Amino acid sequence: MTSPLSSVTKLVIFDLDNCLAAAREVGDELFKEGFQAIRRENHGTLGEQELQEAFSDCWRHPLDWVAERHGFSEKMLKAGWTAFSQMEVRHRMSGYGDLPELLKLVQHRALVTSGFRRLQESKIRALDLAHYLHELHVDAIDEPDRIGKKGWFQRILTNHRIEPGEAMVVGDSAASEIAAGNALGIPTVQILRSGVPRSDTARHHITTLAELPGLVK
Ligand SMILES: [Mg+2]
Repeated sequence: MTSPLSSVTKLVIFDLDNCLAAAREVGDELFKEGFQAIRRENHGTLGEQELQEAFSDCWRHPLDWVAERHGFSEKMLKAGWTAFSQMEVRHRMSGYGDLPELLKLVQHRALVTSGFRRLQESKIRALDLAHYLHELHVDAIDEPDRIGKKGWFQRILTNHRIEPGEAMVVGDSAASEIAAGNALGIPTVQILRSGVPRSDTARHHITTLAELPGLVK
């Protein structure tokens, strides 16, 4: 697995959920409160089956996306939004067990994760990501003037004065970081963790972080 650009890779940008750690590692218990808040405002808007499908999507997609996709009422989204924006993980997390592989990379390493600020920051602490990455950014969906992953990637390239071809994006989501990386001309790597549907829009595919040093050498 070699790339003509790999010898010049200077910086690698990582996603968090379902890339460095399973979204479900926070524990089903944590999201329960959010699901209950949405359910309380349902009033028959969605059937039980539809609600379950929407809740299941909450583990892989942002809440606003889920609400739009499944036809939440405004009140359902608002109730869920309020609950999710206050959540935080209070226990230690370990990720998929391969975080130490990141330390073998000589490249500068950045994290860009989308979601509610408090929850994402609590996961960053629970995983001790400051030990494995040089810079950590939350693309907060609950704050104004959001620039999105593409905006963050561009900002990071600009800050380090490096070309898109000198960077690499690693993540699970075709719709999120893989699309943003492709749009900017940054080589993309899809990490096929359990349950992640393969997308041919990514340039490379790996199953564990242990494959990265070989890819960017
Ligand atoms: Mg992800």
